[in-house]
Amino acid sequence: MSNTFQLSFEQDPNFNYSPESIEDLSEYEKYELSFHPERPKYLDYLSIFENVNSCFETDKFGNCLIQTHRAELFGIPVMLVGQQSGPSSNYKNMRKAMMDPAQIQKWNHGMPVPISYERAVKAIYLAEEENRILLIFIDTPGADPTERSEANGIAWRIGDAIHALADVRVPTISIIINRACSGGAIALTGTDVTLALEHSTYLVITPEACSSILFHTRFRANEAAEISQITSREGFNHGIVDELIPELGGLAHIDPEQTKISVQSTLKKYVSRFSNFTGDNVINNRIDRWGKIGQWDMIDSIELETFHLPVSRIPKPESTGYINRHKNCYNENGIHQYDPVLFSNLKQSNFICDVCGHRYVRPSAWDYIDWMVDSGSFFEHEETKFIADKDILGFPGYIEKLKETRIKTGLLTAMITGDGTICGKKIVLCTTDFGFLGGSFCMSTGEKVWRAAQIAINKNVPMIIQACGGGARMHEGCSSMVSIPKAQLAMSRVEQAGLAVVTLITDPTLGGVAIGIGSRGQRLFEFNAGHIGFSGKRVIEQYTGEKTSPGFQTVNWLKEFGHAEEIVHPKNLKEKIFSMI
Ligand SMILES: [Zn+2]
Repeated sequence: MSNTFQLSFEQDPNFNYSPESIEDLSEYEKYELSFHPERPKYLDYLSIFENVNSCFETDKFGNCLIQTHRAELFGIPVMLVGQQSGPSSNYKNMRKAMMDPAQIQKWNHGMPVPISYERAVKAIYLAEEENRILLIFIDTPGADPTERSEANGIAWRIGDAIHALADVRVPTISIIINRACSGGAIALTGTDVTLALEHSTYLVITPEACSSILFHTRFRANEAAEISQITSREGFNHGIVDELIPELGGLAHIDPEQTKISVQSTLKKYVSRFSNFTGDNVINNRIDRWGKIGQWDMIDSIELETFHLPVSRIPKPESTGYINRHKNCYNENGIHQYDPVLFSNLKQSNFICDVCGHRYVRPSAWDYIDWMVDSGSFFEHEETKFIADKDILGFPGYIEKLKETRIKTGLLTAMITGDGTICGKKIVLCTTDFGFLGGSFCMSTGEKVWRAAQIAINKNVPMIIQACGGGARMHEGCSSMVSIPKAQLAMSRVEQAGLAVVTLITDPTLGGVAIGIGSRGQRLFEFNAGHIGFSGKRVIEQYTGEKTSPGFQTVNWLKEFGHAEEIVHPKNLKEKIFSMI
């Protein structure tokens, strides 16, 4: 059995670990390098601290995937939270562990489960209680994509971690040590500072999954990685990483001791700077930082007028009151159904086919405005209506897609924000349109929520958000994902001003939408909605090789597991929200 592990490029005689040699690697090779099995993991870094003591340790499944320790750094009290992606960074020990099925199960390929994030949240609040600076080590291929984790509320537990980091009144620092992928990572990087080892990666979607979507094959992962700009160095260039920590001695796995010293001296600088920050300083500094996160364009009113108009997607019945049945409707006996459907019945079921469960329509952002506020009371915010999506990566086809979608939907971006009234009471409303690139969460959405929250605070009115979307927008790379904590911080600010925040969760609310705006405020679940959770059904079925249960990720299924307390039919929305604010 070999004692060390070498990636294929390390076996190339021309590769010599010099900076030039590393720079010449392909984007995909840099990705592989970021999770080289011998790179130091969280527990290896404990040696740079003093007085280290584990807390919240149990033997429950998932507890070891995020670990928490009280410690000191040069005498300053800190709380450590770390994603431990495997049993060891010693290759020989790791190989041995991975021959034991119990160990394989225990380490779950480094993918945290709901209970892992619960441990992190406990540590975040304990840090506040004991006035410790939070240092969070990030190292994960993503959160666990299984039905069990969905049933245990993984989306909401990740959302709780982002929420805790937005609210906690002690300084927070995240350190990306290896691979920081997807919602599993963003759960813990909504911090006051994000540091990254120079050869780590920070990404919203794996290159393989990105390749599948873009090129309909997993084999063009290198191109997908290049397009998405997944290295932490590129993240630094986009302003989502504050500082790169040099891997002294070549690479972290070649000289782990030098890398640990490098991490220690960088942390010392930030911890010393933050050590005299008190509650209000911390929060003001956090608001300052997150207000600057993200990039967008502004267009003028002449350009906006060329496509901007309220579009409804609710079908119109014929004079008989019927509409055509959707295509491919089969009953439980497999018999094809052709008969037309009474529109009033369809409306009653919130546009779900009562034979097969197919959704006829996903209402537009303007349909929700129509349902949620008093007729004629809505006025779009001047502060947000000119914000346009920006193509920061030069992502293939993104600009064309945006142009097409603007014309098709009458919208400039996926979200509209404005002032309105509900039963006469003034509110700020944000609605999302699934028709605009699947409602995907992006930098413009983060900024719009941010500005709408400020307006709600200035006007002293509640904030209502309708969440919809399949996840974070791939076309903006990791920057779309980094706008998720920004939106959560904005919602925290409204709540801290003593104002109600109500979130309506509609079909679909998945991934970045669920862990961000979908997990906050007083939550209402739309009657008969589906596709609500963290990982999509197809991703889970591909990963586990098993079919998900009937009704998976529908509101009724969520209710069964205690995740959907308040369910509301669109026709009762106004009265329901009014009663909550
Ligand atoms: Zn049907």
